[in-house]
Amino acid sequence: MHKIYFDHAATTSTRKEVVDAMLPYFIEDFGNPSSIYEVARRSKQAVDESRQKIADLLGADFSEIYFTSGGTESDNWAIKGVAESYKNKGNHIITSSIEHHAVLHTCQYLESQGYEVTYLPVDEYGQVNPEDVKKAIKNTTILISIMYANNEIGTIQPIEEIGRIAKERGVLFHTDAVQAVGHIPIDVKKANVDLLSLSGHKFHGPKGIGALYVRKGVRIKAILHGGAQERNRRGGTENVPGIVGLATALELAIKDMDENNKKMLELRDYIIEGISQKVDFVKLNGHPTNRLANNINFTFDFIEGESLLLLLDSKGIFCSSGSACTSGSLDPSHVLLAIGLPHEKAHGSLRVTIGDENTKEEADYFLEVLPPIVQRLRDMSPLYEDFKKRKN
Ligand SMILES: *Cc1c(COP(=O)(O)O)cnc(C)c1O
Repeated sequence: MHKIYFDHAATTSTRKEVVDAMLPYFIEDFGNPSSIYEVARRSKQAVDESRQKIADLLGADFSEIYFTSGGTESDNWAIKGVAESYKNKGNHIITSSIEHHAVLHTCQYLESQGYEVTYLPVDEYGQVNPEDVKKAIKNTTILISIMYANNEIGTIQPIEEIGRIAKERGVLFHTDAVQAVGHIPIDVKKANVDLLSLSGHKFHGPKGIGALYVRKGVRIKAILHGGAQERNRRGGTENVPGIVGLATALELAIKDMDENNKKMLELRDYIIEGISQKVDFVKLNGHPTNRLANNINFTFDFIEGESLLLLLDSKGIFCSSGSACTSGSLDPSHVLLAIGLPHEKAHGSLRVTIGDENTKEEADYFLEVLPPIVQRLRDMSPLYEDFKKRKN
């Protein structure tokens, strides 16, 4: 049976060119970049070149890019590292209610350590209002952390504007750009951000490698203590193959971005249109236009997203319900609740995140198998039964 991967917000496959670029650093050039002999010099050079490449691609400087183990570590480090460095200035942090758990749970942890956190609401499309950010800033505010684009509903935030407000008020601004980097053009200076998190496996790079951009002049305490790696700020022998893979993947993603986005936008809108026409009682979640080219998120009334996932899985189609991190738990997605969906509707959501390798044939197959699956689940649903009775 044909397998259709529609879960690119959870992770992506590693591109062949990326794996090829990484391979020499496992066997021939395996040296520790901190050593001084030849085999190590070559891995040191690979790390330096990768750092320069990523800096150039984001409009940053060489010394502003720090390698981490991925998006989660970058988010943790940005928020905890700044919170600790600036605790003499204040203890207040502003974030949004739709952040990834890597940000939300870090903020909750900081609350347990005496920090104060404001979780801003979002509108029905999942957007933060920059005016709300402005109003939430106090004398004690040290950091604003708002994601670039949401991993569940794809909504893109007004980052430049929020960054401008932060700058005017002299507050540092971090953005979790894990879903955005490699998908939409980003220049850290234009975006007005002081810190930015990214992760390789969301743009066809390897898993377990990411980076944090830290603008020159921003103080950030280490959270991983050890050797002098990463300018004394993040100990641990560098993940040399991962770093090379990260830089290669970002370079390729940016090179192919326009072409891939054009293709994905067409496919995204084709699927959105198809679901809207073929299935009753559905609603698109997220912003109608200001959304990632790969993201489709629908609520199907009267059914459980998890059941939908299982039946699609049995047809070889792999999607997600809400966030991958919440699958397996019974709590509805905090993002869907934040955009105002009641619990039962939040439970009936399906996230389809496409990639550049998906085809129209796959979309057609999906649109052919989805409606009967939804109908089958509704026919078993007591909610649907009630609804029909009330209607008659
Ligand atoms: C995937 C993701 C993360 C976590 O990144 P990892 O590299 O998997 O740790 C953080 N934020 C967002 C928005 C994500 O989509």
